[in-house]
Amino acid sequence: MAPNAGGSFDKALRQTPVRKASGEPEYICCMTDEARVYPQRPRTVEPREKTELAAGLNEAQARAAAHPDGPLLIIAGAGTGKTRTLVHRVAHLLERGIKPERILLLTFTRRSAQEMLARAERLVGSVSRSVQGGTFHGTAHRLLRRFGERAGLPHGFTIMDQGDAVDLMQLSRGKLGLGDKKKRFPKKETLHHVYSRHVNTEYPVPAILSEEYPQFREFEEEIARIFADYTERKTERNLVDYDDLLLFWAMLVESESPLAEQIAGLYDHILVDEYQDTNHLQARILRGMCRTHQNLTVVGDDAQSIYSFRGATIRNILDFPQQYPGTAVVPLEENYRSTQPILDCTNTLISRAEERYTKNLFTRRTGGEQPWLVTAHDEPAQTRFVVDRILELHEEGTPLREMAVLFRAGYMSADLEIELTARGIPFEKWGGLKFLEAAHVKDVLAFLRVLENPRDEVSWYRLLQLMPGIGEVTARGAVESMAALAWTSEAFGRYVPPPRARAAHAALVELLDQLRSNPTEADGIVSTEIARVRRLYDDILRERYDRVEPRLSDLDQLQTIAAGYPSRAAFLSALALEPPQATQDLGFGSDSEDDVLVLSTAHSSKGREWDAVFVIWAVDGYFPMSRALGSDDEIDEERRLLYVATTRARNHLFVTYPLNVYDSRRSADYSIDQLSRFLDRGVREMMQRVVVDNPDAPAPAPDAAQPPVVDLRAMLRGRFGA
Ligand code: ATP
Ligand code: MG
Repeated sequence: MAPNAGGSFDKALRQTPVRKASGEPEYICCMTDEARVYPQRPRTVEPREKTELAAGLNEAQARAAAHPDGPLLIIAGAGTGKTRTLVHRVAHLLERGIKPERILLLTFTRRSAQEMLARAERLVGSVSRSVQGGTFHGTAHRLLRRFGERAGLPHGFTIMDQGDAVDLMQLSRGKLGLGDKKKRFPKKETLHHVYSRHVNTEYPVPAILSEEYPQFREFEEEIARIFADYTERKTERNLVDYDDLLLFWAMLVESESPLAEQIAGLYDHILVDEYQDTNHLQARILRGMCRTHQNLTVVGDDAQSIYSFRGATIRNILDFPQQYPGTAVVPLEENYRSTQPILDCTNTLISRAEERYTKNLFTRRTGGEQPWLVTAHDEPAQTRFVVDRILELHEEGTPLREMAVLFRAGYMSADLEIELTARGIPFEKWGGLKFLEAAHVKDVLAFLRVLENPRDEVSWYRLLQLMPGIGEVTARGAVESMAALAWTSEAFGRYVPPPRARAAHAALVELLDQLRSNPTEADGIVSTEIARVRRLYDDILRERYDRVEPRLSDLDQLQTIAAGYPSRAAFLSALALEPPQATQDLGFGSDSEDDVLVLSTAHSSKGREWDAVFVIWAVDGYFPMSRALGSDDEIDEERRLLYVATTRARNHLFVTYPLNVYDSRRSADYSIDQLSRFLDRGVREMMQRVVVDNPDAPAPAPDAAQPPVVDLRAMLRGRFGA
């Protein structure tokens, strides 16, 4: 997506025809029996806490925060203060004198760990800075870098992101001759999915095949061979995939070895947020890490579990008390986030879920408007509504950063992004970011990767085939010759290419030699390396790809990000492990203090809150998404996802759906679409129905229930007496 230039927002505000409450009504009600007029109410702003520090905890929260040692489970609904309680618990442990570096706080993103620790700092001061916090994957990475060598994992391993893992799977598939097109054989992505699911859930491969891909059951043996080859390749090339990070950590702490004791002995207390979205492996890791003590605090909400497609299981949270006898369970039911009308709506929405532990929520906050259910004629009308409403709220005093637009999948915000850019409204986008998946970015990273790990076969294939005169056959020849020379850094130089590839080979050798002669650590070193690579690569880019300019600016951007890292290894690991979450993370010149609107996938909105939330595309097939409509479980997960999205709102919630959807995937140009099945009658009764005025539409038929403005017949009757 295009970064927003920013700067012209004030001008845009002046130019945008924002209607005042007294002006022409922008939105008119549905002409139905329930039709009511919804004038804009004066905005009631609840008094908000001054600082986190001054605001306290309620009795149950305080009990949890001050819980002595031992297993603790906080299982409670959205906005009940789970995360806040966890922050206070960290502060409490520090006050009790637990050393900060002996506390481990595990969260779903690195950003949330940082924010939580910043809040703890406000409570107890800078001592909290040494608390260890991050994601499971990030922590695994740190531990493996430190202890991996003693566990047979040579120093300097490369982390493959999912795209690389899929490519490596393809090499295994090709090598075993299973890639021929005669037979219908699973694609590389399918193979990787099955593999990853097996590792994360420990569900046997044949069972996964039977359930998800019965058509491939006959290939069970071949698939096992591919997985074996894939595993072997990773070992030979010193590569580690995402799943390995968790798997190695689990195997390490489960082993009967002094090393396991040493690692488990690093922490006295472990705390986990969003526990409902952890998988089997993560539960094993925690058991291993708490082998000598049971000081494990987990918080979560089963009604918000939205990652089972990645192997997460709500059994972790529901079975926690059985797995850790003596667990103190703290439920919380008071919601501090949303107004009662919003809670009435979201409570109804989730009450349709099959099985649920957490209860309906209430708040002591009074007042507030009902959530809006907005029908727009089509996508542009939906976009216009959202942008106009955002500007109105902004005029009334809501900062942009207190508003978010949420959607089921990243691509659904395209039209909105164009409109926001045109109107000069700054925004950042979370989730669904394709920057690192872009071919040209991956190309440049491939150069850095082979420098870092000369055995990185996937990257070799990628960069060799970029070069003029080198095709698949030559690339394979080069890779085989390097393997024969044990992947030493000179191996590529000693390879003798066919005549066609000589020039390319010489150019590459020269570039790699030049890059190798660099010092390994110096300020801006990675950025300089990228600049050198680009002297060769930019021309290749111009040859190979269309839309050259935006791609070149992506690479400028990559250079800017790289400048912030001390070494190539640190840069590559960070990109693979914690890919930028937002355009903002890519350094588009705004930091979190800036007043920018957030656009986010529903998944990435987890744990957050905003004053006003727009959920767009509430259309069946979009939310729930059509490919998630396979089974009841999947539909339930989509419902929970909508619950997560709608429970992010404090004061204003707008759910919008375009009535006419242009969809190139269907044969018809336009189709009249159905409102999301989750917004059933009961849920709709908790919302105010609004249709967006469509200036191009024919005048609506007069409403029979309303008396005519001028009654000609009555006038005529009156003329001749009753
Ligand atoms: P989610 O399920 O969405 O992750 P959560 O249970 O983690 O939500 P928090 O994010 O911790 O909830 O809290 C929701 C909001 O309520 C925050 O703004 C928080 O500061 C506020 N809050 C929580 N507890 C209290 C309290 N006791 N007094 C005042 N405000 C509170
Ligand atoms: Mg939370």
